[in-house]
Amino acid sequence: MPLSPENIARLRENLERIQQELDRALRRCGRSGERVLLVAVTKYVPAEVALELFRLGCRHLGESRPQQLWTKAETLPAEAIWHQVGHLQRNKVRRTLRYARWIHSGDRWPLLEALQHEAASLGVRPRVLLQVNISGEESKSGFRPEELPEVVPRLKELSQLEVCGLMGMSGLGASAAEKSRQFELLRRLRDQVQPLCPPGVELRELSMGMSDDFPLAVAQGATIVRIGSALYEGLDLGSA
Ligand SMILES: *Cc1c(COP(=O)(O)O)cnc(C)c1O
Repeated sequence: MPLSPENIARLRENLERIQQELDRALRRCGRSGERVLLVAVTKYVPAEVALELFRLGCRHLGESRPQQLWTKAETLPAEAIWHQVGHLQRNKVRRTLRYARWIHSGDRWPLLEALQHEAASLGVRPRVLLQVNISGEESKSGFRPEELPEVVPRLKELSQLEVCGLMGMSGLGASAAEKSRQFELLRRLRDQVQPLCPPGVELRELSMGMSDDFPLAVAQGATIVRIGSALYEGLDLGSA
């Protein structure tokens, strides 16, 4: 069912507001003129809403569940660029790589090996981010910060992947000051391990910041923000 004109107008307003907030956050920390990639996370909404976001100019769309990504990617125009942002099981790697150009959740070595193997067999070269557990919460996945210096030199074994940065999520319920420290940790970690990377591997991307904390992440150097709920404020999807 197509979206109502009210919902489309609301979506456009939300998107404009978020883009303005992004610009403001960049200006405040002296990064005006730099670009931050907005990945619109569509996990809360049906494919019609994702399609409308695409029409409004969001080319980069994200999903946390692989099955949702497959279905929406099948529905939307092939020009949409899909990001797998949530946990990925190994048995879903092959199918996900048919659709997703970006994997933000490279959170353990066996998964990276599976991505390497399937990407080679499919003849694709996905962009992959190493997810780091920056909040220290047991429930969060990701490499531990202290593991990274050992992981990064081994990236030379993963020639089929374009490993191009780090991804992190701030702790649930953390204060603004704590979140800022966690984002800063990710940036420092990147600066620390970049010299340990094999030739050709550049960790230029920092995927950090969601609806509640993206201005803090931008202030700490985010190059990609993953925004979901803030896009859908005020939408009436009962009558989508
Ligand atoms: C859901 C999700 C997001 C978006 O979260 P919001 O708080 O709704 O903006 C970003 N990243 C990941 C990994 C997610 O699962």
